[in-house]
Amino acid sequence: MQDESCYLCGHITEDILHVLRNRSYAKEIWHQVIPPNHIRRFFAGNISNWLISNLQVNKANNLSDSDWTCFFGIILWHIWKNRNLYIFQGKAMNSKEVIRVLYCWAKHFTSIHNKALKINTWLI
Ligand SMILES: [Zn+2]
Repeated sequence: MQDESCYLCGHITEDILHVLRNRSYAKEIWHQVIPPNHIRRFFAGNISNWLISNLQVNKANNLSDSDWTCFFGIILWHIWKNRNLYIFQGKAMNSKEVIRVLYCWAKHFTSIHNKALKINTWLI
């Protein structure tokens, strides 16, 4: 039987929610971009609700506007890429350096669409 535990931290299962949201590296990333008053809600819920609430455009929620959906998607991609980089090449990236790069990518992507990037971040 295949070992389903997390290669990186030993968690009993390495499901997608563990990799993208709940593992320590992912948490370090999210804590840099999620305002403290939204942290509890951000880390609640299953994968489906979590993705939908962050990827849908909802102007009533500052964290779910179109700029956030872009930044959120780029962060997800990075977290997955970083996991694979560590597993297959033994390399890891610093979460504080990474978030600045990802912010620039989101800003560049958004500027292509002639929009100002308005993202709540705490260290940028
Ligand atoms: Zn893990």
